[in-house]
Amino acid sequence: LLNQIELAPPDKILGLTEAFNRDPNPDKVNLTVGIYKDNSGKVTTLPAIARAQRIIDHHDVLNRNLSYLPIKGGKDYADSVKNFLYDESCAPSAKSAGYQNTPNYGKDLLANNRISFTQTLSGTGALAICAKFLSLFVSKKVFIPNFSWANHKNIFSSNGFKEFKNYSYYDAKTGQLTVDQWLKDLRAQVSADSSKEPSCIILHACCHNPTGLDPTREDWDKIIDTINELKMIPIIDMAYQGMESGDLIKDAYVLRKCIDPKYVCDNGIFLCQSFAKNMGLYGERVGSLSIVSPSNAPPTVKEAVDSQLKRIIRSIYSSPPGYGSRVANLVLTDPELKQQWGKDVQNMVARLQGIRNDLAGNLDWSAVNDSQQHGMFFFTGFPLKTVQKLRDEYSIYLTDDGRLSLSGINDSNIEYVSDTFKTIRQE
Ligand code: PMP
Repeated sequence: LLNQIELAPPDKILGLTEAFNRDPNPDKVNLTVGIYKDNSGKVTTLPAIARAQRIIDHHDVLNRNLSYLPIKGGKDYADSVKNFLYDESCAPSAKSAGYQNTPNYGKDLLANNRISFTQTLSGTGALAICAKFLSLFVSKKVFIPNFSWANHKNIFSSNGFKEFKNYSYYDAKTGQLTVDQWLKDLRAQVSADSSKEPSCIILHACCHNPTGLDPTREDWDKIIDTINELKMIPIIDMAYQGMESGDLIKDAYVLRKCIDPKYVCDNGIFLCQSFAKNMGLYGERVGSLSIVSPSNAPPTVKEAVDSQLKRIIRSIYSSPPGYGSRVANLVLTDPELKQQWGKDVQNMVARLQGIRNDLAGNLDWSAVNDSQQHGMFFFTGFPLKTVQKLRDEYSIYLTDDGRLSLSGINDSNIEYVSDTFKTIRQE
């Protein structure tokens, strides 16, 4: 039987790094993976994280405990992350008041014990457990934006989902978002669906991957209204909190919006969250899945949800890894480290913006200059043919959709990248 197995295609993103590693060209530039690198091309540890590691390594013997964590992760981590996500990120603080001046609905969710919280293997693990849970108990249908992170469909199809639909997100010709068409797509497709099974929808909370373009707050209000009207199940994918504006709280707008109690959300709200990018904990796999049960649900609902999540996790990896979550927990609970983390995020965003500006200056390219793009990526709009040519002839690696990871550009390669882009655009 093994003879009949077909070769799987290489991963759309990580497969390119494999190709990059094989490339003998000394000038090669890898702009594929969403990892933050410094100006010398290194993946550095953020100062807040390095300090937390030192504290754990030298002072806190208990934190060096290598025993198993519980199936859904440690209590300290759960408490600090829930507090961060549902109290701090949902509070109308002075800074974010201009964006949403509402009561703290997240705090109400915590007080009313409506959040089934699970520590997960980063954002990917959160999405996988979320998909598995939904496909077993709620729905096997999901709407994914067109364009989206290449792994979304892969994760959902591997975890029981059967129906995949797209919604219009971005018009490659104009370089603009297509929110009106998005909402039309949802209305048309959901109303044509006569089955009882509700549809899920993946929402990129901020720093949409790959376009780097997010709806305005007014657009989000319309989008969430429509999702609720159509009784869809929101799956909020928040892998880049803080990387849009440099302000962790400001970037959680979609979460704040979705938990507004004016929405009923009979089938729950799903939040898949990651500290890979904003804490630079990529390889430690630190994230979470929250399932928010409806306001009218009896407490037995949360209990049942928790128990099923445990069963799912136990059958796959038993319990999550401990070290990274201890680091995250310390950063979230130590006021000095927390403040440093805020600065670290701001510094990353400032450098990314600097590279964006430098690239724009070198290229005199209005697409870089005028666009509202933000986050770790620049969406070049290059067609596949150009992306392949960049790879084959110049050893500059972008993902197939024309996305480049900005922090891979630095003082030693910006001239080469800019000159090559200029040449290729004239051809
Ligand atoms: N969602 C999106 C949109 C992403 O871009 C990523 C990272 N590339 C993730 C989720 C999950 O990443 P991780 O598993 O590293 O947290």
